[in-house]
Amino acid sequence: MPTAIINVTVWNGSFTIKPGFVLWQGDTIADVGRADVVRFSSAVKLVDGKGGWVIPGLIDLHVHVDEVKTPELFVRYGVTSVRDMGSSPQVISEWRRRWREGQKRPYVYWTGRNIDTGKPSWWEAVAVKQVAEVPGLLEHLRKLGADGFKLYVNADSATAEAVIDYARWMGLPVTAHHETIPASDLLRMGISGIEHAHCLLHELLPSRPHIDEKRKSNYLRVFSGFDRLSVEGERVRRLMELAYATSVVWTPTLSLYDIPPWWRSKSPAGVPVPASWRAEWSRPYWDFLSTRGWTPADFRIAERALEVYKRFVREAHRYGVQVGAGTDTPAPGLLPGAALHHELRLLVESGLSPEEALRATTATAARALRQEGRVGVLAAGARADMVLLEKSPLERVENLLAIRKVYVRGREM
Ligand SMILES: [Zn+2]
Repeated sequence: MPTAIINVTVWNGSFTIKPGFVLWQGDTIADVGRADVVRFSSAVKLVDGKGGWVIPGLIDLHVHVDEVKTPELFVRYGVTSVRDMGSSPQVISEWRRRWREGQKRPYVYWTGRNIDTGKPSWWEAVAVKQVAEVPGLLEHLRKLGADGFKLYVNADSATAEAVIDYARWMGLPVTAHHETIPASDLLRMGISGIEHAHCLLHELLPSRPHIDEKRKSNYLRVFSGFDRLSVEGERVRRLMELAYATSVVWTPTLSLYDIPPWWRSKSPAGVPVPASWRAEWSRPYWDFLSTRGWTPADFRIAERALEVYKRFVREAHRYGVQVGAGTDTPAPGLLPGAALHHELRLLVESGLSPEEALRATTATAARALRQEGRVGVLAAGARADMVLLEKSPLERVENLLAIRKVYVRGREM
């Protein structure tokens, strides 16, 4: 039965329609428009939105679903799509199967296995020995369900170029978590995404940070040196202009730099953290993000680095660089769904308006996925993933947590 939600203000991913309606049939939106100029036939089931706001379902661009045992939390906090950054194909197809069955979880887009050169830098990554292997690898990953690709820490320039070139033929996006190749090189190759703040910016460091491996976790490397970067200067200007000109989507994952001890004592966006997640994050598995052995000075470096990253987000935004919203859920403290709200608040603290932050998790996120018109938007033909809010999300980003209903594929969850 076709259903329409009325008596609402609609924010469709670009602009506001008031009074608005959204009409959908099955899992697809059929029409969106002004409620005062249409009359619905008796065949349409009407839902009274009671003066609320309807927005597209939110998208978290940086998630690792293989570590998520509570997929329903995403939906509870309005997240109806996520982009997985390297889980196994079995995990992805099982997740999608359950999504199709109507279980409470977001749709998962997948960047395939993380691609390295020589040897994998993570147990789930695949390593390319010769660039000639790249087309076969990408075709294989696409058959397994990949919607794009992700270059990883050990990838060298030759692999990066081969992946970006071949993915372009396939019409699929490539993003990167790279720590040695300068972002400028990847941008010139035509990469479509850059993950994490430190990946875009590490080429601006005077030298690679020196980390005492015996004393500290490797985690300090994403702060050390970055705390002293300036947004001024010719090199920053060139990098930002290049990022703008190549229309890359930069997903800075600011939440990742809000350090774990902070997360354990507070909670993302002020929501309660279930005990099961606190237990999960104390497992040794997460030690690569541990601050054990850090000195007070190290913590100050991390705090200053986050402030620097926020300044760069503001600067990038000022240059017109497209900023996407992603979190690295479920790294310690990054509770599925709730972490995205924390990320959006950090983006607002960086200088984006609430509406611009909302775009980062809807329209811009859809661009990063090459799913424009399908998700991150309320328009005919889009998937009926929607959030009904009590209050205007354009006024305060915190209002995004005033959630009354969430629809996934047209079904109230
Ligand atoms: Zn990640």
